[in-house]
Amino acid sequence: MARPAVFLDRDGVISRNRCDHVKTWEEFGFLPGALDALVRLARLDLPVIVVSNQGAIGRGLMTRTVADEINRLMVAEIRAAGGRIDDVLCCPHHPQDGCACRKPRPGLLLQVAERWQIDLAASILIGDAEVDILAAQSAGCRALLVLTGRGAEQLALMRASGRDGLAQLIAVGIRVPSALASFAVTALLFASKRRGLLIYSLEWSQPSLCPYSP
Ligand SMILES: [Zn+2]
Repeated sequence: MARPAVFLDRDGVISRNRCDHVKTWEEFGFLPGALDALVRLARLDLPVIVVSNQGAIGRGLMTRTVADEINRLMVAEIRAAGGRIDDVLCCPHHPQDGCACRKPRPGLLLQVAERWQIDLAASILIGDAEVDILAAQSAGCRALLVLTGRGAEQLALMRASGRDGLAQLIAVGIRVPSALASFAVTALLFASKRRGLLIYSLEWSQPSLCPYSP
């Protein structure tokens, strides 16, 4: 039977963004709170899966082998801390390749759903960018925008442009100050088996859940 999963973007959610891309393990750095949050998530009986655009491969800045090694080391560190990443899927393509897997397209999520028998409508994607939210919407998942990484800047852009399909997201005023907060709330949501909540609005000190329909 299909089951829900937690999908995580990598850069800006688990690790620090770099405007020149993370191209080596030395350039990879966990965001504060991310490892703790991953440990909380690991307690849930749900697949935790990373879905990441790695356009640096398509741009020729890094080989696929190096990208895979960075992800392998990341997963090993998370495991050593008591967390768990069950799978990592990357889009290696150049933004102009027009592939089906680069977010905002839903290809990676659809691949995961088939591989892991995932119920997309019951799953959530946590990202720091508009493309993450759009990919989740295209795949029929819930989405949560964190303000780590590019999140704050992306939220400001979305608000300024009032983009269709995201207007409601902006209207509920999603503010997730850190990856840790969002992971913890996600964990609570799944632990309490609540369904039908697509996006939540929360303030750091006073979380509140808001229904959201894409
Ligand atoms: Zn791709």
